[in-house]
Amino acid sequence: MILPIRVFGDPALRQTTEPVEHDSDELQALLDDMIETMRSANGIGLAAPQVGRSERLFVIDLAPMAAELEEEGETIPPQPMILINPEIEHASRDTCRMEEGCLSIPDVREMVQRPETVRLRYLDRDLEEQQIEAEGFLARVLQHEHDHLDGVLFTDYLSAFRKRLLRRQLRAMKEGNAEADYPLASDAEHAPA
Ligand code: ZN
Repeated sequence: MILPIRVFGDPALRQTTEPVEHDSDELQALLDDMIETMRSANGIGLAAPQVGRSERLFVIDLAPMAAELEEEGETIPPQPMILINPEIEHASRDTCRMEEGCLSIPDVREMVQRPETVRLRYLDRDLEEQQIEAEGFLARVLQHEHDHLDGVLFTDYLSAFRKRLLRRQLRAMKEGNAEADYPLASDAEHAPA
């Protein structure tokens, strides 16, 4: 089932998430729905708060870019990836700048500085413990999605100057005037009255 995606300004995007305690049919259905939603929106990552859920998990699918990444010398694990209760155990002191976008902030792409490599511990779909060391593009996506679980958006890292340039666009989103070629949940429908 394709789930509507919450847009910048929706309080769901600013919540902190709750660790997953046990497996359930509901959990497995949510994971399937999130992968389907991400793919149908041509996204490469989707975190639970983006579909209005408070579970501490996200999904990633770099398959559409696999060839491109390989050409750049980056090897990626089998896709899609499911990360439940992820924790960043280590982040490099070296940082790099890369352009980011977000399904919850349509049509905005900005350069963001983040650690170059990270090591994460997480549970996979079977709730088995896993660890991953990532660099390059995968490290970038992991950090972006992990931030969503703490209510952090990539626009939070922008300079006051860049934020000012985006002010009108972001305000329009907050007011429910966002448009995308995938289903969005309008703020008005979901915000508490
Ligand atoms: Zn995002």
